[in-house]
Amino acid sequence: MGKRKSKRKPPPKQKNIVALSVVFPCPFCSHDRSCEVKIDRKANVGSIECRMCRESYSTTIHYLSEAVDVYNSWIDACEEQNRD
Ligand SMILES: [Zn+2]
Repeated sequence: MGKRKSKRKPPPKQKNIVALSVVFPCPFCSHDRSCEVKIDRKANVGSIECRMCRESYSTTIHYLSEAVDVYNSWIDACEEQNRD
């Protein structure tokens, strides 16, 4: 019985996927670079969460959306809430 050795390659350094996670300043607690955007390309959902004040937001994205777009729509949503 031959044991199958699973050759586990070490994961390649993901040079091309740097843009998957980006940090932005928080509109709530004003911390710089405390909000992290996560892009889920499979679910078409972009989410952002501030690790300082735990404010979070998620939105539907399309295939061209990037982290900054998620952040921008969060800012838009905030401004809309503050309108009245
Ligand atoms: Zn915050």
